[in-house]
This record gives sequence, C-alpha cells and structure tokens, in this order.
Amino acid sequence: DGGKRPDYLAGLNPEQTEAVETLEGPVLVLAGAGTGKTRVLTTRIAHILNTGRAFPSQILAVTFTNKAAREMKERIALLVGGAVEGMPWLGTFHSIGVKLLRRHGELVGLRSDFTILDTDDVVRLIKQLIQAEGLDDKRWPAKQFAGMIDTWKNKGLGPADIPEGDARAFANGRGRDLYVAYQARLSTLNACDFGDLLIHPIAIFRKNPDLLKEYHGRFRYILVDEYQDTNTAQYMWLRLLAQRPKGELQNVCCVGDDDQSIYGWRGAEVDNILRFEKDFPGAKVIKLERNYRSTEHILGAAAHLIAHNEGRLGKTLFTDRSDPDDAKVQVHASWDSEEEARAIGEEIEQLQRGKHLLNDMAILVRASFQMREFEDRFVTLGLNYRVIGGPRFYERLEIRDAMAYFRLVAQASDDLAFERIINTPKRGLGDTTVRALHDYARARDIPMLAAAADIIETDELKPKARKALFDVIQSFRRWQELLENTPHTELAEQILEESGYTDMWKNDKSAEAPGRLENLKELIRSMESFESMRGFLEHVSLVMDAETNENLDAVSIMTLHSAKGLEFDTIFLPGWEEGLFPHQRSLDESGRAGLEEERRLAYVGITRAKHRCHIWFVSNRRIHGLWQSTLPSRFLDELPVTHVEVAEMEQSYGGYGRGGYGQSRFDKAEPFANSYSTPGWKRAQANKTDATRDNWGTRSGHAVERIGYGESGPKGRTIEGE
Ligand code: ATP
Ligand code: MG
Repeated sequence: DGGKRPDYLAGLNPEQTEAVETLEGPVLVLAGAGTGKTRVLTTRIAHILNTGRAFPSQILAVTFTNKAAREMKERIALLVGGAVEGMPWLGTFHSIGVKLLRRHGELVGLRSDFTILDTDDVVRLIKQLIQAEGLDDKRWPAKQFAGMIDTWKNKGLGPADIPEGDARAFANGRGRDLYVAYQARLSTLNACDFGDLLIHPIAIFRKNPDLLKEYHGRFRYILVDEYQDTNTAQYMWLRLLAQRPKGELQNVCCVGDDDQSIYGWRGAEVDNILRFEKDFPGAKVIKLERNYRSTEHILGAAAHLIAHNEGRLGKTLFTDRSDPDDAKVQVHASWDSEEEARAIGEEIEQLQRGKHLLNDMAILVRASFQMREFEDRFVTLGLNYRVIGGPRFYERLEIRDAMAYFRLVAQASDDLAFERIINTPKRGLGDTTVRALHDYARARDIPMLAAAADIIETDELKPKARKALFDVIQSFRRWQELLENTPHTELAEQILEESGYTDMWKNDKSAEAPGRLENLKELIRSMESFESMRGFLEHVSLVMDAETNENLDAVSIMTLHSAKGLEFDTIFLPGWEEGLFPHQRSLDESGRAGLEEERRLAYVGITRAKHRCHIWFVSNRRIHGLWQSTLPSRFLDELPVTHVEVAEMEQSYGGYGRGGYGQSRFDKAEPFANSYSTPGWKRAQANKTDATRDNWGTRSGHAVERIGYGESGPKGRTIEGE
C-alpha cells in the first residue's frame, strides 16, 4: 500500500502484524510467554486510534491489573505521539465494573455513591447474618461462606441459580437463604462486594436490552489481555458486550496463553479459550512463536518444565535473543530461609555493583509469608524494595481503622466502617451501646450514624455513653462539612488527630506502635496523588497495586501470581521445595490438576526473566512456627541439564541433614564449592532415575564431611552479630 507505514508497525513480525491489522471480526491470539501478546494489544489500540477508526472512549480494553492498565495507557500514548485523551474504558474487569455501576447502579438498586466492601467487611457482615439467624458461627464460619459466595459469583450464579447441593452444604440447608439475606443487607448498606462488580453489570445488561445496545454502539473495539484467566462471570460479561446481532461486526480481540492459566483456584476457566471459537464463529486464530524476552537458556528451561503438563494446547517457542555468554538458569541451595534471603541479598548487591538497576530485579515468591524474610533483610542492608500486589499495606490494622474513619466521613451510611471505629480508640462505647444502636438502626431502617444522632436525644443510653456518642457525632458532622472544601490530605490528618486515633498509638507501649504511626503517616502521603477523598477511597477498595515510591530504584517483591505479564532482567525464585512449591494445599485439594497449575506458575515465574534466573531452595523451613526439613521441589528435577547449572553451594548448606537447627549456626563456613565437584542435583539430572530424590539427600552426607574436614573454618560472622 502506497502510504508510509507508521513506525509502530515497523518492528513487528508478520504474525504480530496480522494480529494488529485484522481489525474486523473476532481475533484470538494464542501464544507463549514473551511473544508480544500484550505488545500486539497495545499496538492494535494505537493503530485503531491512529487510523481514526475509533475515539479513545470507544475502545473497551481489559487488563489483569490496574498497574498493567496504567502501563498500557503510557505505551499507547508513546506510540501515537501523546495525543490520547484518556482511555476511560481501559482497566480491569473490576474497575470497568465500578464505572458501569456508578452510572447504572440504580437499575439494581444501588445509589451512585455505593461502597465497595473488602473481604474483611464481607466476613464481618456475614458473621452478623449467621448470628442473626441463630446459627453457631463457629460451626458455620463466616469466612467459609464468604468463600462460597465468591465462588458462586465467579460462576455468575445468583441465589436462584446455585446448585441444590451447594445450597444445602452450608448451615443445615440454609445456604441459599443466607445468600439472599446477604444480598439484601448489601442493598440496605448501599454496598457491593467484588463479585457484584461483575454480577450486577451482567444483570443490568440482561434486563435492559436497550442499554446493552447503547454500549454495543459505544464499544467499537473490545480487547482482552491474559484471556486464559477469565472466569465464567467475566466471560459472560464479555460475551454480552462483544456478541453482536447478525450482520454487525464483532471487533473483539483476546490474547492469552493456556500455559499461563494460574487462577483456576479463583474460578478461571481455561476452557474459555475453546469457547471463544464456538461463540465467535469465524474467529481468526493467530499463533506467535517467537519469544522476544528471554535468553535461550531461560526459555529452554521453562519449555522443558511445562512439557511435563498433560492438558496443554501445545505450542512452539523459539528465541534468537541468545549469546554464548548468557548464564544458564542457576539453582542454589541454602540452609534456611534466613540464609536464603541473605544469599539473595548478596547476589543483588553484587549485581548492583555491576551497575544493574534494582528496578530490573524481582523476587517472586509462591506464598506471601515468604516476603517478610526478604523485607527484613533488605531493611537491614538498606536495599530499596517494593512489595507489589496482594495483601499488604492497606490491609494492616491501623490502615483499615483509618480508612474506616475516612469511609464514614465520605459515606455516612457505611455501617461497617461505623462499627469498626465507634469504640476505637476506646470511648466507653462498648458492645452494649453498639447493640442498642444496631437494634435502633435496624428497627427504623436507617444507618447507624443516623441512629446514633437520634438515640442521644432519648434516654436509652447511660449518660456517659450518651456524652461520648454526642462528641463523636459532632466530630463526624464537622468532618463531613469539611469534606468538600478542605484538601483531603489535610482533612485526613485532622480526622486522625481529632478522633484520638493517632494518640491511641502514641500512648501504646507495644513494639509495633511506632511502626503503626509511620504507616499512618505513609497513608496520608499516599493520598496526595489523588484528587479527592472519594477517588482515594475507591482506589484503595480496588486494592491490587498500590505503589507509593514509583520513582525509587527498588527491587520488586511479589507473588508469582501477581507477576503475570511482567518482565525483569533478573528474576529470583526462592522456596522451590516440596510442600511450598508445588504448594501442598493445591496438591491436596486438586490433585493432578492442582499440580499442573503449580507447574504453570513455575513456568510463569521463569519466563519473567530476560537475562538471569536464579532458583533457590532451602533444606529447613519454619512452617507455622515449626522447623521442618524439606525436600527440593520436583520441578527442579524437571529442568533440563543443558540449560541449568547448580550454583556453588551456599555457606552452611553443609548443615543439611544434620538435625538440630541450633547446631548448624556454628557451621557458617565459607562456600566449599570448589571442592564440591558433583553436587547431587547434577548427578540426579545425569542419572534421571527414580532415585533422584535420594540423590538430593546423599549430598548432605557429603557436605557434612566437608564441614568436618574442610579447610575453611567458620568465618567471623554470626547471625546474632548482624
Ligand atoms: P506474557 O505472556 O508474559 O504476558 P507477552 O506475550 O504479552 O508475554 P510482551 O510482554 O508483549 O509479551 O512482549 C515481551 C517482550 O518482547 C517485551 O519487552 C516486548 O516489548 C518485546 N517485543 C515483543 N514484540 C517485539 C518485536 N516485534 N520486536 C522487538 N521486541 C518485541
Ligand atoms: Mg502479556
């Protein structure tokens, strides 16, 4: 074609080009890690905008995290020369759901200022319902029921749709009634949970075909990243919006990789990939086979590992990003997790001395409890780090309390927030008062804060409680008035001061108190980047990624699950031990399927690395406060010898198998690696027999010998001294 091809198309390979330029009709890109799926999506959007096919507001684009959405926006702006005026419909399923509900919530009985409850709120609410039903909440734990509701919602099931057996499984057959009561309660509170952010829009579109038609007209292009991890409800949502009446074009493009489906435990249905071709007949399926991210060693290791899975669609991957100097994937062993963190810290510092940025390094853990060790270590070393995704900062106690104050100021009907802070700090408004308020509010169907304002006019409460309550209400009135005109950070600070909350921690003598005060300060700081209190609250309720120091050079720490779609120069994968990775729970609960999902998680982990990938395992781990000796992960045995190397044995690894942990602390010897020519792990690889696991063990004997007779004595370093 005569015209000059835009720059952003120039670097693409033919299959990528096809995926970008096929703008009419359904497209499914099915391809392995690092093949440019996300890049295709981004370029596709740029191309749509650049050729004037749609305005930014006419594109619906779904990413897996908010962070990914932000990054995509930035990339698009770069590609089209910065002219993109926002992309209001680029976000996660959840954030797009919020937007739809703010507009049309009234169709399911929500006012536009509804609150989004987090898991903690949900559990508390359910607990109240269980008690109100006269059920024993020990026998029928609220948390379990919250999980059941979540599962139903992920499958798109309302109370009427849940399977008979499921409904009977909880609370002597009252599961369905509880679900109904729960939804009614949410409605009274003008609140919804995460699942509702999907379920409500589905209901709205189903019941209002005209509205759906309007959105069909609006969304000229629909794009979905990480498609393999959509759950049934998300798929229903997507299909409603993307499936058009006969004769209309269905411009929907989904990209995904079945080998990276890692949210099965949360209801993701990898079968959605297969359904796509059925629901969107004539879909063009494009495969990408060239990996642009990783070296041959990294890709080779990952490919060999994932080949152990049976349920795969199967695909080829190759890279020409390779160099004879490329390091193989390195496997390291440590005595315990403290030492693992120490060793990884050293490795990082060494890379840093070699002028590598911390920003280019990440530690990916299987379970979030593993993070603390690294956080502690990095604080000691003065290494900057950031924790990405998952439960963290905003889930801490003091942050939740502070947020409850802010929520109640922003939405006076937020009863859960009210209950959380009405007697925090202690004001003499104990259970009796709260119960009285609860009953009063219920009887009149009004929020508790309003009930409190009423009840102090009566003599239902003791004078002392009345006075205390009066003061609280006065404060809230004042803060509510300030909400519109005072800068929200200032107001936040004022609320925490005047409520006595900050003082509560200042007067607290416990070891955590100073840290909590720092966190509160950090909370106020983190509000600065938002325009308003409401904007901030919304952000937090969506949780996901909350990075405060984006500009700092820092190592990232995150779970393997939240590392999806990301890439780093150097990746550290600690904790490759049986029971932790593969995780025992997934083996117990889902058997072979669980194991395969764990293996996909390992595949995701390795393929995040561009140049260096370090895998670690320890021989002792403290689980639930107990020391246990551990076996190296079976996934290590599944790595190919050609692409993997066993690193020099870490100091004191020789303690492996020696029994008491305490004793090993004397064994802080320098690495005896040079003399350590045939580690068991390599032998295991060479032999590839059933005795593999034994070979891991034999090394311990070998190492013990070294410690006893080797030249290198304990170095002048003790754990205590550090
Ligand atoms: P994942 O499955 O992990 O999400 P992906 O398929 O989405 O991976 P991308 O993240 O889009 O892959 O791309 C991987 C890396 O390769 C990125 O750094 C991207 O910029 C680069 N890349 C993709 N396509 C090309 C290309 N044609 N030329 C150069 N680099 C490319
Ligand atoms: Mg991607």
